[in-house]
Amino acid sequence: MMLYDPADMGWLRRMVDEKPEGPQKQVESHKLNAMSAFAEAQTCRRQVLLNYFGEYREQPCGNCDICLDPPKHFDATQEAQKALSCVYRVNQSFGISTW
Ligand SMILES: [Zn+2]
Repeated sequence: MMLYDPADMGWLRRMVDEKPEGPQKQVESHKLNAMSAFAEAQTCRRQVLLNYFGEYREQPCGNCDICLDPPKHFDATQEAQKALSCVYRVNQSFGISTW
């Protein structure tokens, strides 16, 4: 079982970003990116996990949550344009946390 909250990723990203430059920061950043990719995967999680360990599987497993209930996709072009138009109209004066 995996519990995932995108807000936690932002918090963890800031923690890694605040560390001094060096190999430790690179390793932690890589691990964070890999975990984020796994959590937000739109394809078979087993394939993502195997790729992390350098293995490749052509066929989806058919048993993970993504295989059993694939994410629904839709064209959000118009919604994105409206959101960006809103940002432009308020002169970019509000942050993402503004409701
Ligand atoms: Zn799968």
